[in-house]
Amino acid sequence: AKKLGRDNFCFYTEEMGLFVRKRIQIEADLPDAISQNQLLLNYQPKVSCLTNEVVGFEVLLRWLHPEFGLIPPGDFIPVVESSGLIVDVGEWVLTEVARQLVEWRKAGYELLPVAVNISGFHLHDESLSLFIKALAHQYQLNPSLLEVEITENALTGDTDSSIATMTELKKLGIKLSVDDFGTGYSSLSYLKKFPIDVLKIDRSFINECAYNPDDAAICMAIISLAKSLGLKIVAEGVESLEQLEFIQQQGCDIYQGYLYSRPLPASDVEVLLKRP
Ligand code: C2E
Ligand code: CA
Ligand code: CA
Ligand code: CA
Repeated sequence: AKKLGRDNFCFYTEEMGLFVRKRIQIEADLPDAISQNQLLLNYQPKVSCLTNEVVGFEVLLRWLHPEFGLIPPGDFIPVVESSGLIVDVGEWVLTEVARQLVEWRKAGYELLPVAVNISGFHLHDESLSLFIKALAHQYQLNPSLLEVEITENALTGDTDSSIATMTELKKLGIKLSVDDFGTGYSSLSYLKKFPIDVLKIDRSFINECAYNPDDAAICMAIISLAKSLGLKIVAEGVESLEQLEFIQQQGCDIYQGYLYSRPLPASDVEVLLKRP
């Protein structure tokens, strides 16, 4: 057992060293990732709980790194969040979505809104609403085709600047969602302060909602809170019919998850779009 312990320890430190090296390299490589087209976007359908029709998409970022392969956002977004690069990443995502929407429009498809994940650091930056406004003008898109998802934790800190940005986004007709609702460290009072349209129930509550009474109770409470505040409710990470039936019964509006579809490359999204 001793030997095993030592081996485990060695393994652990090597892993940590790799982790630290990778972290440093990720930060150093990111500027190139943007200029060398290594970032790519997947689109996950958002589906109506009532009609089972696709009503929009959430765009999810990936990085095809020349050495590390496909890196999920959870591995590099936190590394770049505190650097100015997160604004560059956010602007790249927004621009790429606008370009894609125009491409779909040219191909004759009816456009559906696309939700973009915006980091809290970017939300505190007053350039965000100006950037989106200019982008929409440049691509001749209605800004309401873009939606913004912000994690609950991003709503802590300097609330004045985030309220200012959110108010500007609302003026453009952009819907705002609170992401990972119920997992953050903020008090519920922000629901009164921020001009929010949607709560997204975190996947961790949906996971066992069909048979764990605690998770079921949390989902029911979030849905009823959203309804009494006049907010729409989205369930994320729906993987089974049991989960879907449960949230449907509770009056959830929209769902996303592997049950309907994994996040897809843009080319695979077209079969889900309609031509009027
Ligand atoms: P999120 O916004 O909560 O996104 C949902 C995550 O759950 C995505 O992981 C998605 O692929 C995954 N997912 C969707 N349906 C299912 C399901 O049925 N089962 C399971 N097990 N997972 C499901 P992903 O793409 O790895 O993204 C992780 C997080 O990274 C996102 O969490 C979001 O907070 C962040 N992120 C993604 N793209 C961006 C971006 O462009 N900018 C920023 N700032 N953050 C991003
Ligand atoms: Ca999200
Ligand atoms: Ca989420
Ligand atoms: Ca989540």
